[in-house]
Amino acid sequence: MEERIEKMMENVFKPARRHADFSWASIGNVKEGRGDLGEDMPVSVYRLMQYTMLATLAKDMGEEKANWYFREAGKLAGREFALNLLKLDVPMNDFMAELQRLLKDFRICVFRLESLDPQTGEIIVTAAQDLDCSGIPVTNETVCCYDEGFFSGILGAYLKREYDIREVDCWANGDRICRFKGGPRT
Ligand SMILES: [Zn+2]
Repeated sequence: MEERIEKMMENVFKPARRHADFSWASIGNVKEGRGDLGEDMPVSVYRLMQYTMLATLAKDMGEEKANWYFREAGKLAGREFALNLLKLDVPMNDFMAELQRLLKDFRICVFRLESLDPQTGEIIVTAAQDLDCSGIPVTNETVCCYDEGFFSGILGAYLKREYDIREVDCWANGDRICRFKGGPRT
């Protein structure tokens, strides 16, 4: 009984989580909390969340604004992903190799650096078997706004400058892989 009261008081005095203050800790201890169900789940569940969220935003504020929000969320995710899981003080080649390995380990995509201009910082990367879009119906458009932000956030964290990246090829556009092009914001 004492213990229960203590726990209740703890909860009473714990400040509510503010959604605007995302931190890596918000993800919590998945391994401990999920027990037998474990840390993995089907990709369809992730897409159910993503595409219903996008539909809800688009209905309320239009497609363009909804895409903007997804891109911004992706950028925040990419930044936190890089800050929490990647070494940022290593040479570019090592950084890219580690990023490629991590994206595969997390089963986000099969990532490749296609080109990087050391002078201008212009970059082209590809994502095959992508978590967001591989296998979705072809609608003749690029749909991976979250990934655009995600890669912008990761590169921005490493290079310590704002990066803008846009998708030019996508599964939804009839391609087998997604291709992203971009560079530092001028
Ligand atoms: Zn795509």
